[in-house]
Amino acid sequence: MSKIYWDKGHGGDDPGAVANGLQEKNLTHKIVEYAMVYLEANYTGFEQRVTRTGDQTLTLSQRADMANAWGADVFVSVHINAGKGTGFESYVHPNASPQSIALQNVLHGEILSAMRGFEAIIDRGKKRANYAVLRETRMPAVLTENLFIDSNDAKLLKNEAFLKAVGEAHARGIAKFLGLPQKANSAPSQPQQKVSDGKLYRVQVGAFADRKNAERLAEELKKKGYDAIIV
Ligand SMILES: [Zn+2]
Repeated sequence: MSKIYWDKGHGGDDPGAVANGLQEKNLTHKIVEYAMVYLEANYTGFEQRVTRTGDQTLTLSQRADMANAWGADVFVSVHINAGKGTGFESYVHPNASPQSIALQNVLHGEILSAMRGFEAIIDRGKKRANYAVLRETRMPAVLTENLFIDSNDAKLLKNEAFLKAVGEAHARGIAKFLGLPQKANSAPSQPQQKVSDGKLYRVQVGAFADRKNAERLAEELKKKGYDAIIV
């Protein structure tokens, strides 16, 4: 059972960055809630907790301590940037473990590609910083900065569908990193098959540790006239 610890950046007395009629804490709370609902709906084999179930005030160290005390397997802290820039960036600690870097890689890719479903978003890069929640947590830990609240980016941050997509991308990234099994009736990845009469059914025919074997089976299916994708 994998343990996932979510950190909603800011809350209570600390709204985080404020601009364009938006408060960072409201956005980060929504993104994390969308992520948690999506994990619950589509995956098994995990438990998840969150630093704030409501709008409590918590110090950075309290949040890291809670994740450490629970023995979390991953820690993800969700933020919105400020400083009149544009785009997406993610952080690990300067002394990050290889697992933290692997988590950053998968999260960064998932989130950026979900954002780019809405608009051409600038990739500000996979960065490192000595942030307390990254320094004090003892498990793979990543902090995401999801666009800028005080620039043109705000128009996407006012779009509920965008916040939902960003939350779901965080969830998919963690699920991939942990290798969480998908629930039988879920379709969490982007549909790639042709859709007829509005319904979409996925059929899995094989799961292989070796990509060559997957490619061999995909070739065989293609020869027989079936569309095949390797995930
Ligand atoms: Zn923040």
